Amino acid sequence: MVYKWCVVPQYTNTSIKTPEKMFVSIPKNTKIRKKWLMLARRNPKDIAASTNAFMCEDHFNIEQDMANYRQYTMGFRQTILLVKGAMPSKFECQVDRRKRLSDTTMSRTAYIKLSPLTKLVSIVLIYN
Ligand SMILES: [Zn+2]
Repeated sequence: MVYKWCVVPQYTNTSIKTPEKMFVSIPKNTKIRKKWLMLARRNPKDIAASTNAFMCEDHFNIEQDMANYRQYTMGFRQTILLVKGAMPSKFECQVDRRKRLSDTTMSRTAYIKLSPLTKLVSIVLIYN
């Protein structure tokens, strides 16, 4: 199980906290990646190009933006395929954008703190 977290500031969805959410992986293509991160109001420099970064489904019109939504929700597919040109568009959750800087720091701390739990949570899920 890969630990996924939403890069959008003020959003704390992770694959552990909200396992029912879909996490869309941010494209590795530099141009598109930069665009997505800017939309999320994250500094593209904060997230290394080699990092697997995600945004949760809340920022998409997921049924329209996903090419294989039906297959995925029916369990046939493990990979989320986006339609060409799909972009995250929903950021209503970012109510107070003035706090952006501290929120960025906070989400990074939370990520580091949570990582050691990943294995534990996976095991619990498997053996339940
Ligand atoms: Zn999110």
